[in-house]
Amino acid sequence: TANGDSGLPAELSEKYTLTRTLGKGACGEVKLAFAKGSCDKFACKLISKKKFSVGGRTQMNLSSQVMGEVKILKALKHPCIIGIEDVIDTPDMLYIVLELVEGGELFDKIISIDKYSEETAKMLFYQMAVAIKYLHDQGITHRDLKPENILLASDELETLIKVTDFGLSKFVDAGSMMKTFCGTPSYLAPEILLTAGSGAYTKAIDCWSLGVILFIMLSGYPPFSDERKDMDLPKQIIGGHYSFPQQYWEDVSETAIDLMKKMMVVDPTKRLTFDQVLAHPWLQDEAMKEKANN
Ligand code: ADP
Ligand code: MG
Repeated sequence: TANGDSGLPAELSEKYTLTRTLGKGACGEVKLAFAKGSCDKFACKLISKKKFSVGGRTQMNLSSQVMGEVKILKALKHPCIIGIEDVIDTPDMLYIVLELVEGGELFDKIISIDKYSEETAKMLFYQMAVAIKYLHDQGITHRDLKPENILLASDELETLIKVTDFGLSKFVDAGSMMKTFCGTPSYLAPEILLTAGSGAYTKAIDCWSLGVILFIMLSGYPPFSDERKDMDLPKQIIGGHYSFPQQYWEDVSETAIDLMKKMMVVDPTKRLTFDQVLAHPWLQDEAMKEKANN
């Protein structure tokens, strides 16, 4: 048919009209959704279940597992975690209706402003750390923290952040995880590279990734990169080879650098927990927290 809903299941098109694409990731597309009958706007994530039919498990089984996880995610309530409004499950597709966030990705923001001031970076990072502590306290590891998965509530520099795209990544098999990793491996903890994505790792992987994100926010360039000529990317990460050259880091405090060094520690058992991150001297700033909480 000529209407924009063609191909959408009745369960979805009864309640929502989908319009333009808001973003794309490894799992599929995210579209702007209007609730029919009200003016409420949401974001709808379209996930093809074909991607989940792997590893010898039947699609049915996997689907019920995904739904179990979705239930957990739906119960999460935190201002810095994306809210899940609705889930529509069909044989081929899963549609996750999410709270709409309108300021775009942290990724694009960093590219457009080059880098953040230490003050602003601290306020945004604090919110991320609080959100990840909340997830960890609920027994959930994010697994895919990167600036594409941190959304901004507005265009302002100092704004509310929303962590997104968590929880479901564990249902993607090791093979396709590694493929995803090949696309954006810069945020991966060393132990993931060492176990080839086989799953033998803990929530400490989130601490590593958030350390990498903080590095990029403060400098405008990644600590580990394919563009470095001295050694290949996996070797940089596995060896924890990063540094803070004076010419790029002279405006950043020693305290901030100390925190990154304690987050990007190769041995996951020696990395900070999120309670320890939040207790680090760099984040003991009441004025900043006041701002972040408003
Ligand atoms: P994937 O698992 O495919 O990476 P994401 O959940 O990260 O999917 O979504 C992909 C992109 O879609 C995001 O990086 C962002 O640009 C956009 N997006 C996702 N969720 C929302 C949302 N709630 N509001 C606005 N844009 C969103
Ligand atoms: Mg994503």
